[in-house]
Amino acid sequence: MRRQRNVKIVATLGPASNSYEMIRALHEAGADVFRLNMSHGDHEEIRARHAIIRQVEKDVGSPIGILADLQGPKLRVGKFKNDEEELVVGQDFRLDLKEAEGDATRVQLPHKEIFDALEPGASLLVNDGKIRLKVRDCGRDFANCEVTVGGTISNRKGVNVPDVVLPLAALSAKDRKDLEFVCELGVDWLALSFVQRAADVDEARALAKGRAAILSKIEKPSAVRFFDDILAASDGIMVARGDLGVELPVQNVPPIQKQLVRKSRAAAKPVIVATQMLESMIESPMPTRAEVSDVATAIYEGADAIMLSAESAAGQYPIEAVTTMNNVACEVEADPTYTEIIEASRRAKRASVADGIVAAAREIAETTNNIKAICCFSQSGTTAALVARERPRVPIIALTTLERTARRLCLTWGTTCVITGPVDRFKVAVVAAVRAARQENLATEKDLIVVTAGVPFNTPGSTNILRVAPCEERLIYSSDPE
Ligand code: PGA
Ligand code: MN
Repeated sequence: MRRQRNVKIVATLGPASNSYEMIRALHEAGADVFRLNMSHGDHEEIRARHAIIRQVEKDVGSPIGILADLQGPKLRVGKFKNDEEELVVGQDFRLDLKEAEGDATRVQLPHKEIFDALEPGASLLVNDGKIRLKVRDCGRDFANCEVTVGGTISNRKGVNVPDVVLPLAALSAKDRKDLEFVCELGVDWLALSFVQRAADVDEARALAKGRAAILSKIEKPSAVRFFDDILAASDGIMVARGDLGVELPVQNVPPIQKQLVRKSRAAAKPVIVATQMLESMIESPMPTRAEVSDVATAIYEGADAIMLSAESAAGQYPIEAVTTMNNVACEVEADPTYTEIIEASRRAKRASVADGIVAAAREIAETTNNIKAICCFSQSGTTAALVARERPRVPIIALTTLERTARRLCLTWGTTCVITGPVDRFKVAVVAAVRAARQENLATEKDLIVVTAGVPFNTPGSTNILRVAPCEERLIYSSDPE
């Protein structure tokens, strides 16, 4: 399904969006990729959601991306006798390894390796930073803390330790189980939480064995520090502003977001801006003006995708939230200033023949109004990503024989994917491209398209042909070379 916008929308599924009707409605309202959050829901629920998405995909007849988000080494406190306690500024509070339920003086923190790494003076942030503890003294199985910001602490709340590089494995035992489960189920993207270094990405890639592309969530100070290496090791990036804004001062998040979006685009890898984009829509059918502005900013910056979390997973207005994103995107992308910003940030250095060809394709496509689309043959998706990096003014159609590639590209800016039968000659490719452009209602018989392909076919990264083709099949047969 071709959208009237270039930026893609990722919608997280959850209790508010479990049914076939809801998932289909979310897709029709604009969701291009669905996110399955492995922090919530058991395997049977995930399996059921996955099956519904694939059914919707079949019924609407166009690829839908599925992103499984692994929980990662998220730290959590244990349980409380009374489910929750009120912590007051200045009081003492102890964290330890004892399994006994917590009270107003202590609770379990069931992560031995944290106590080994903690030092007096370190801060512990509980429940997204709403409560702050400062370590006074600590040992191998306890930390006595002072409450510096008080509030309600309750069962299994998350804990962040921003000051300390934690000796944590990138993937917990649960993550490994979840990874194998979703890879077997068949997901297109695996998102890794709390990545700290490039080696974390390599570890997940070795386990995924090519079954899913790997996306790194940037939400730790060390991930920002080692971003270039992490980007090189990953297939895509998520600016995970929730935990990032807890681990670092919140005012650091906007400049980091800008930097990450630019670098990811320069590397031709999709980047998602995530978290709290339309937070108030969890409970209200209308977003705040500030949220609308935040969504617009991400689009002006050139992000590939914008994401909904609780808004679509657990909120009262999932469809309204997707519709809001869609409407904001259409408005921003129609603004001449948007085109100016996007084109000013195009990168000039060309590193390969394929890169030169797609740059030429963009330039040619924009020389005359008759050229309606850039159609690129891309088996692995690499060439399509290069075309998308150009941010052309005309629509991009990526043609591939692989369903897997088509689904992964659902995350990539401006790319509509069409699955074709096997192509072994250039003439056949041009005909397939014309048919795709006409089927997507982008071109009529009188129009032209630009086609790029690699000959010989089925060799990844081999794009070496550029053709401006008429959209009348008779003309192709009479005029094209083999
Ligand atoms: P989460 O990741 O929703 O899995 O925490 C996103 C974020 O931290 O922003
Ligand atoms: Mn997070």
